[in-house]
Amino acid sequence: MKNLPLHWKILIGMALGVLFGVVAVNTGLEDFTRKWIMPWGKIFLNALKLIAVPLILASLIKGISDLKDISKLSQIGGRTLAIYVATTVTAVVIGLLLVNIIQPGSGIAESTRTSLMKENQTKSNEYQGKAKDTPTFKEAPLRFIEDMVPDNIVGAASSNKNMLQVIFFAIFFGIAMILVKEEKVRVVKEFFDGFNDIVLKMVDLVILAAPYGVFALLAGLVVTSPSADIFIALGKYAFTLILGLAVMIGVYAVLVAIFTGKSPGFFFKAIAPAQLLAFSTSSSAATLPVTMERVEEHLGVEKEVVSFVLPIGATVNMDGTSVYQAVAAVFIAQVYGFDLTFGDQITIVFTATLASIGSAAVPSAGIVMLVIVLESIGVPPAGIALIFAVDRPLDMCRTVVNVTGDAAVSMLVAKSVGKLGEPKVKNWDDNYDKVA
Ligand code: ASP
Repeated sequence: MKNLPLHWKILIGMALGVLFGVVAVNTGLEDFTRKWIMPWGKIFLNALKLIAVPLILASLIKGISDLKDISKLSQIGGRTLAIYVATTVTAVVIGLLLVNIIQPGSGIAESTRTSLMKENQTKSNEYQGKAKDTPTFKEAPLRFIEDMVPDNIVGAASSNKNMLQVIFFAIFFGIAMILVKEEKVRVVKEFFDGFNDIVLKMVDLVILAAPYGVFALLAGLVVTSPSADIFIALGKYAFTLILGLAVMIGVYAVLVAIFTGKSPGFFFKAIAPAQLLAFSTSSSAATLPVTMERVEEHLGVEKEVVSFVLPIGATVNMDGTSVYQAVAAVFIAQVYGFDLTFGDQITIVFTATLASIGSAAVPSAGIVMLVIVLESIGVPPAGIALIFAVDRPLDMCRTVVNVTGDAAVSMLVAKSVGKLGEPKVKNWDDNYDKVA
């Protein structure tokens, strides 16, 4: 068992978690699961999230100050953003094509629609309320940049939703460090080098608990999930979305193969633990520590690229969320009987791209931003009530794609700047003996 690859251990943990959940539901152990199993999932999730902010700070500051010259940074930065926008737009277009061809919303009966709307009214109102804080692009076109620059670093670091603000501070700090004479910043640099190593070790230690953490997360999910009938009513919608997500995974495999010459097998084997964790946690931010470790050690992307491309990607590049925004928006419009024009579809490309960039890397962030997409095409945002019941499992799936996209783009960027080497695989539990 000790030498089993990590992704197998996580998969076994997930399978046993689901099994346990099903048994618990059928034997009246729901309360026990809620009280004694679910908290472990939460604890694991918290430990992962806990590392996110220090990891971003340490690795970005270290990564940028290692570059020693600003032109390299702007080269990597420019390519990263260009590829991120390109994959995001591709994802929205794929979503739009599929949902227009399959038309999952056309077959929904009036009665199903009313019952879904009624059942999820409170939640729908809550999410619409959250979205109200976000002005539309027309109201505040520069809001995105405004939100990125924090007025207080402690405030920014106090919530994982503000990851972009922490990234901004770290890049700013790193750039200033390059500009100050080397001997003056030596101590600071050594401090961040050491800090970075310590945080990475924390990641290693948390990963030791991953198979148990996902067990608890999935057991809890099964116990709290809604009945199967609803899944069937929304089956065509879920199918369309999952198909779109699968196509995106295929797109990454092709891009990686064409531009880096690495086989899909190599790519997916390397990032499987991050994908499984993304699935179990529904959060790109919580998965970030593992994504970074896998991309650096198992895909061979050099640290300078990893520490820049992945933290930014976790919040900015959400291709799974983009496919979802497109499919969900059109699905809701179809259920309501709206005829969307070509112009509306173009609006979706634009707003869904921005909405996925603006979504925080946390569970259910995508559905909040969906409200804005719906408003932009004049469909009642209350329609999100229609898809609530299946949103969590689909959130799990789209988060897998979000994380996979970040990993693929980091390979492309690394290749383009000559920073893609051979994997330097450390056994994930090579410290097991020291901590056990
Ligand atoms: N849960 C997703 C993520 O963290 C965001 C979303 O809700 O689509 O990547």
